[in-house]
Amino acid sequence: MKSRKIVYGFLGMLLVISLLLAGIILHLRNQKLKIVFLDVGQGDAVLIEKGSNQILIDGGPSSQKELEELGKYIPFWDRTIELVIATHPDQDHIGGLIGVLKNYKVCEEMDNAATGDSDAYKNYLQLIDEKKIDRLRGERGMNIKLAEANLAILYPGKNLVNNPKDTNADSIVAKMTSGQNSFLFTGDFPTEQDTKIFAAGVDLAATILKVAHHGSKYATSTEFLDRVRPQEAIISVGANNRYGHPAAEVVDKLKTRGILVKRTDQLGDIEYDF
Ligand SMILES: [Zn+2]
Repeated sequence: MKSRKIVYGFLGMLLVISLLLAGIILHLRNQKLKIVFLDVGQGDAVLIEKGSNQILIDGGPSSQKELEELGKYIPFWDRTIELVIATHPDQDHIGGLIGVLKNYKVCEEMDNAATGDSDAYKNYLQLIDEKKIDRLRGERGMNIKLAEANLAILYPGKNLVNNPKDTNADSIVAKMTSGQNSFLFTGDFPTEQDTKIFAAGVDLAATILKVAHHGSKYATSTEFLDRVRPQEAIISVGANNRYGHPAAEVVDKLKTRGILVKRTDQLGDIEYDF
């Protein structure tokens, strides 16, 4: 009887191992480029994934929510995130990154190097330091490769506004291109800085626009939109948030141009696979 139990135990273990291996092989074979606008409530978080390589742009306001979301897309055996980008030091963008730094091995971190005075940002920088993560200064001209995709940093340039009371002003703006598809990630980039980004002569055109600042009326000017000319616009926003985001005038502006508007508070996670 005892030896039969051992045999069953062994067979059971073998079955579990084969299922795990099958899962891993299936995942690795299904190496599509995936871009997911995570539903993190009132904040921003975008996961870009190809096979076992990940780039995370912002992490929403809460670590718990962010880790739950990542768990849906990053397989459990992959505990490494290749690059984390913090567009700017606000809680609704970096709050969740604290949990990410604690729970994943992050190879490199990128931020705009502007000063932030929030506790969340102090915490965040301290963790990067403690964990000896390579910290990069995100600046126009940088390019990051992820398989066939290229992520180009378009903003800021060398000169920062660097005002802890106006952290949005130096928001990283980045454009990812893969074949016919392009995504413009804007953080909370405000209209006030339009002239600076236009003067830089960067090509803002993209098929999909992550609408800046959760659809705030202080972002996404008509001229900005004229330069991006997106087919689709994603608004990352929490339901019934206290800021009144997104502004009706921004949503109208998008819709009257025939741009398909998608909101995380209405659709949950918004995923693209190529
Ligand atoms: Zn924000």
